[in-house]
Amino acid sequence: MGINEMGVMMENAEFQELTNSIQTLTPRQRGQLADCLNRVEHVEAVNSLIENRILTTPVCPKCGHDQIARWGKASGLQRYRCASCHVTFNALTGTPLARLRHKDKWLQYAQQLADGQSVRNSAKACGVHYNTTFRWRHRFLALPNEQKATTLVGIAEADETCFPESFKGRKHDMPRAPRKRGGKAAQSGLSAEQIPVLICRDRAGSTADFVLEKADNAHIEAVLKPLLATDAVLCTDSARALDGAVRDIGITHRPINLSAGVRVIGRVYHVQNVNAYGRRLKEWMRRFHGTATRYLPNYLGWRRLIDRNRGALSPSTVLRAALGMYAVQQTTGT
Ligand SMILES: [Zn+2]
Repeated sequence: MGINEMGVMMENAEFQELTNSIQTLTPRQRGQLADCLNRVEHVEAVNSLIENRILTTPVCPKCGHDQIARWGKASGLQRYRCASCHVTFNALTGTPLARLRHKDKWLQYAQQLADGQSVRNSAKACGVHYNTTFRWRHRFLALPNEQKATTLVGIAEADETCFPESFKGRKHDMPRAPRKRGGKAAQSGLSAEQIPVLICRDRAGSTADFVLEKADNAHIEAVLKPLLATDAVLCTDSARALDGAVRDIGITHRPINLSAGVRVIGRVYHVQNVNAYGRRLKEWMRRFHGTATRYLPNYLGWRRLIDRNRGALSPSTVLRAALGMYAVQQTTGT
């Protein structure tokens, strides 16, 4: 075929033949080959990221046993077999991404999530169907949705905000029951079309948010009490329900009377961090033109993920978060 240099030892005759045949490709075929190589590289990158799940936590996803043995390979992933319950599995088993197709596009899609792109734009960018990116969005966000701070320490801030209720996207039914709501009538001064969300944040940036069934004392207390360290000091804008809940919890409270023009007490007690977070969240959400209420927790988790990695969220971090490999850092001191 011509281009072989004389005397060069060929390690792999087949490979040489392959590279030789490249010379005869049309420009269009060369493009297809480049795409193919690109795809293979993406799948490999995704697979090696996925494999880390088992390498860091080598346990059976079914029974939790740690005696697992390699058991062949399939779809580019190592299979394992549990010595205790004999189930076979790979690193994707039991994750929200199990059995999703087009693995070669996952990192590309993760970049779309990092950029906060719509389902439609993501579908276009990844070259897949709208329904695919719709499904991906909620699979990728299933775990980030739950990845929130579990303890706030030191000075913490809480604020209540609202999102309009929406049944958007109902026709794409997901295997999850719609959120059950209380009565149909307006509740505690809120319009029936507003969904209350409580946002809490400490000065280390640990953030937790909660879609509330109802914005009353009991519901706020139920989420706040387990969240706040006993020696935490909570700043709020002294809204009535929040005020009452904090009193019931018995935590040190610094109500900031914003409506009376007070912004900061004693130089450090204010609600400016939580308010700024809420503003960023709302502004970011505007691009989605109203989000289906039952997916609201997914959007909140998505925003938390972006906010924690401000300006530097990489696709592999998104993918790791989607696989539950990106734990929320928990501040332990004040
Ligand atoms: Zn097992």
